[in-house]
Amino acid sequence: MIVENIRRIQQEIGQSVQLVIVSKFRTIEEIRQAYETGHRQFAENRVQALLERAEALPSDIEWHMIGHLQSNKVKHVVPFIKMIQSVDSVKLLKEIDMQAEKNNRMVDCLLQVHIAEEESKFGFSMNECHAILASGEPQQLGHVRIRGLMGMATNTNDMEKVKQEMKGLKTFFDSVRTEFNLPGFDILSMGMSSDYRVAVACGSNMVRVGSKVFEG
Ligand SMILES: *Cc1c(COP(=O)(O)O)cnc(C)c1O
Repeated sequence: MIVENIRRIQQEIGQSVQLVIVSKFRTIEEIRQAYETGHRQFAENRVQALLERAEALPSDIEWHMIGHLQSNKVKHVVPFIKMIQSVDSVKLLKEIDMQAEKNNRMVDCLLQVHIAEEESKFGFSMNECHAILASGEPQQLGHVRIRGLMGMATNTNDMEKVKQEMKGLKTFFDSVRTEFNLPGFDILSMGMSSDYRVAVACGSNMVRVGSKVFEG
């Protein structure tokens, strides 16, 4: 079942969109089944689960962190993490840079932008995000690379609303990409099980899908 689900989702999103499989709450056995399809990009939203799974599963998995990350936990994930998609403060970005330097690594990061109407979700406003890039500070950090933006639309059945929020983020992504011309700034991560088709139609090139992979 997992095999067919992955195949179907990949067909729907096309070759130019990266599928990151969200493995939170799944068993090691389920994740292994997804891994055996050849997939290598997986995401977790909690540090403890991420560490346990990274330990238990093959080391060629490219792990993405997609949940709020506390600065004091950065040191645990930086030695192996592929990408931190949930960068929501400059303090966090600087801590990632410092730990990455200690590990002699370059860590790919996305700035998380708050586009949903819910207040509970983390992330910068577009204005804050613009100001951070305009400050030039991230560009001076030698061990993090800002690869783009991550966003989550409002959790609603109203797909017009979702589309509006996603189009807004795509427009913002294009404008900062042009304005700041950061090397490697080319990832727009938006779309989950309920809205990845809309996300791709709105210009997303990375989707993070969990339940549709494991439950169909
Ligand atoms: C859980 C989660 C997803 C995937 O959600 P599904 O609805 O299971 O596809 C994507 N992004 C983030 C940030 C998440 O926390």
